[in-house]
Amino acid sequence: MMVNKQPQSPPFAHMPAAAETLLALMHAQGEVARLSEREQLFSSLLVSVNAVLWAFDWEAQRMIYVSPAYERIFGRSAGLLLADYNEWRDSIYPDDLDYAERTLAEVLEKGAVEDREYRIISADGQIRWLSDKCFISQQSSPDQRVIVVGIAEDITEKKHLEGELQRLATTDVLTQSSNRRHFFECAHREFEQARLEGRDISFLLLDIDDFKVINDTYGHQEGDQVLQRIAETGRAVLRRGDLFGRIGGEEFAAVFPGCSPEVAQQIAERLQREIQRLSFNHEGQVYGVTVSQGLTGRTDEDGILDTLFARADVAMYQAKRQGKNQIVLG
Ligand code: GH3
Ligand code: MG
Ligand code: MG
Repeated sequence: MMVNKQPQSPPFAHMPAAAETLLALMHAQGEVARLSEREQLFSSLLVSVNAVLWAFDWEAQRMIYVSPAYERIFGRSAGLLLADYNEWRDSIYPDDLDYAERTLAEVLEKGAVEDREYRIISADGQIRWLSDKCFISQQSSPDQRVIVVGIAEDITEKKHLEGELQRLATTDVLTQSSNRRHFFECAHREFEQARLEGRDISFLLLDIDDFKVINDTYGHQEGDQVLQRIAETGRAVLRRGDLFGRIGGEEFAAVFPGCSPEVAQQIAERLQREIQRLSFNHEGQVYGVTVSQGLTGRTDEDGILDTLFARADVAMYQAKRQGKNQIVLG
């Protein structure tokens, strides 16, 4: 009897190799799953984050990638932007275009520009502030072209808050005029400029006459309204470039850059008239107010603003002593 001697591979002889392949396959699948999980994570991050990630081919002046937030923040189609970079330029607020282009070009020398902030006009006509940081990509493209990558974050809300904080820090809450600190900060700056350029500058102090009587007769709230109306009148009479602020309880000050005391006096006289013309009505009782003003101009001996302030103060008290409701030149 012939025995089939054909060599037979032992059962499971190939198992180790098969198992290895299988394991490798499972590992690869796991890796793929992990990668796609990660990709999904990145995608959802890119969609939800309030910033546009972008990549720009500098030589070709072409946007080669833009994240999904672009369509939301700019309100424009990403496809159109990828076809033509002018789409981005067209959304930049015209006054900021030069700045945005200049700072983008700076990235070539600096490698990174992280403090760019400019405005865009979104498709619905809203002005939005962007913080648009950009960097030269470390991974150069295969053909060694310069790729600029960036992250443009919508900081509109932050800008509005900053503006509001700035307003709160510089404004007197009751009268909406400059507060004392802000007024003097600006006044010192104007004085220094006038001194360096040898230009005229005048300083005015204004104090409400017998304000205590108004408070005592009609109440503190009524007094507050008088302060508000006087501040409004001051703002209406002064010209662009003049400074006006509430520097004390019922004391205001003004600075007139470029004005000799004679010219400033005309403005002070107009202010005096307009205030005297104001009519107040408290529960049927009609009354008016007057103010005393002290005015002075810069001379070559004045090295700092404080000497003008002191002279205007002396002049103002002289106006009080002389019977109030008048302007005294110091
Ligand atoms: P004079 O003509 O000499 O300037 O007399 P006056 O009464 O105006 O001056 P005085 O300094 O005696 O009084 C100023 C008053 O201003 C006293 C204070 O209660 C009041 N005052 C200060 N700040 C405020 C404010 O924010 N609101 C109100 N209603 N009154 C204020
Ligand atoms: Mg006073
Ligand atoms: Mg007073």
